Amino acid sequence: MQTDTDVLTFPAPRPAADLAWREDALCAQAGPEFFFPAPGSSTREAKQLCGACEGRVACLEYALAHDERFGVWGGLSEKERLRLRRTQRS
Ligand code: SF4
Repeated sequence: MQTDTDVLTFPAPRPAADLAWREDALCAQAGPEFFFPAPGSSTREAKQLCGACEGRVACLEYALAHDERFGVWGGLSEKERLRLRRTQRS
């Protein structure tokens, strides 16, 4: 059960600067299907674009912090982020 205190403290408010990387996101020009491909489709081209994106590290940190389950974020696929999370926990 959620209490008033939970609402006030979780999730923690994020400063606007946390999302500044989105302004330079190269994927904004590519379209969502490029970064959220159908299951089994290649993520290679999306990852190449991420490799040239100045916000890559911040994007990946955001995806890990917000447990983004789908798509390519910060140059990593869903499976790669899951693997990274497991490595960080051990
Ligand atoms: S790293 Fe990739 S997914 Fe993240 S903002 Fe840049 S292009 Fe988009």
